[in-house]
Amino acid sequence: MLKDFIKQIYPSIKTKQCLVTFCSTFAVALALILVIAKNTSVKASVSNSAPMSALENEVENDGFEEETIISEEEAERHPIPHDGKYTIEVKSGDTLLNILTDMGVEYKHANDLFVSIRKVFDPRDLRIGQKIEIETATIDGSYVVKSLASTLKTGQHLNVTINDDNTYSARVDKDELIEEVKTVYGQINGTVSASMHNNGVPSRIVANFIHIFSAGVDFRRDIKKGDTYEIMYKNYLLPDGSIAKNGNIIYASITLGKNKMELYRFKDAGGNVDYYTSKGAAIKKNLLSRRPMAHQSSRISSHFGRRRHPIYKDIRTHWGVDYPAPKGSAIYAAGDGVVEVAQYRSGYGNYIRIRHNGEYSTAYGHMNGYARGVRAGTRVKKGQTIGYVGSTGRSTGPHLHYEVIRNGQRVNPLTIKATAANNLTGKNLTNFKHQVSKIDETRKNMLADVQKSEKLAQEQTAQSEKVN
Ligand SMILES: [Zn+2]
Repeated sequence: MLKDFIKQIYPSIKTKQCLVTFCSTFAVALALILVIAKNTSVKASVSNSAPMSALENEVENDGFEEETIISEEEAERHPIPHDGKYTIEVKSGDTLLNILTDMGVEYKHANDLFVSIRKVFDPRDLRIGQKIEIETATIDGSYVVKSLASTLKTGQHLNVTINDDNTYSARVDKDELIEEVKTVYGQINGTVSASMHNNGVPSRIVANFIHIFSAGVDFRRDIKKGDTYEIMYKNYLLPDGSIAKNGNIIYASITLGKNKMELYRFKDAGGNVDYYTSKGAAIKKNLLSRRPMAHQSSRISSHFGRRRHPIYKDIRTHWGVDYPAPKGSAIYAAGDGVVEVAQYRSGYGNYIRIRHNGEYSTAYGHMNGYARGVRAGTRVKKGQTIGYVGSTGRSTGPHLHYEVIRNGQRVNPLTIKATAANNLTGKNLTNFKHQVSKIDETRKNMLADVQKSEKLAQEQTAQSEKVN
């Protein structure tokens, strides 16, 4: 740094080796004077008094900047308020207030800014590493923030500006996301997920693909080398073209040997989203064939049908199956669905009913309690814990009372072939078929485009080979 300085003042010094010693001594002395002079100037500007000396003027004219005199660590410990633009990176333990006051912004102004931001974004949610652009200015003798901007998360930006009356306006601007439809296809070589990852399919899409086919494909046993897949899904892009998030799979197919399975996403008139075959048939979602609970044993304390009631001592129909189990052991949802009822019902005690589709529901009684977050309206997955075994209601000991309801009738859980499929009919089917033809046309065009560009690439390769 010193060398540069000397070079600046004495460009000829390089050639005059003998003068080096003398000159550097001189330069050190000069630099020391400058340091002292500079400190005086800072003090002077803070107190807003004392006219500048001739030497200071010279220093300013030399363009000798503070940064070259005060070490970085020194500057960090004692920042000098300086109008300008700063990019601050949030570090562990930082708060918005201490970032601002460390910059030299008065607490009152920093707090005004904090309060305005809090209306649109909780400043405690700053992430370590998050960058904040801050422009400062001296207004009416106070060192204040003129504007502040920061990207909160992908596509969301915090913008704060100072108003004429020195108050602040904060808002969160969202980038408008652009929808993109993407089609990928490929061969399976090894596992489905590895093959797809190698082909650039995002993890979220891979997971969705496996989920929507899981009722029909055993991904561990059914897949052979050379089987193929095709996925059409949505991406949401930021204005710069980068992907903000992946959307849903619109269409997916998997071809196992000669057997091709295709699924189309469809939202029915009731707002339920599911995947259907091209004919509008729902993929079959079986209810759990084993008992829907963690405790698996062969014991059944009471079967479905007419029996002598253990409490009333008369002959009544028992509308479910009783599985004895230790109090507190987990009860599972027998299939994907929506919790319709989760409340105490006299004889049943704590009771849950899940609607799986238009045909099937299942019910669970005498529960000790419900799993966290499970209430009426909750969407549950097959095998998810919904509650715990107990002995509430009219019960003689801890057990799960389990019912299967088909088209409103309670049926024997042990004898049903619970293929709970909900096929599309009527207006839903008409709308669905319309959508299928649109999707198929888009797919055809996209595939044709891909094939065209592949052919073009092949021709170009052939051409260049000829030339060579
Ligand atoms: Zn029972």
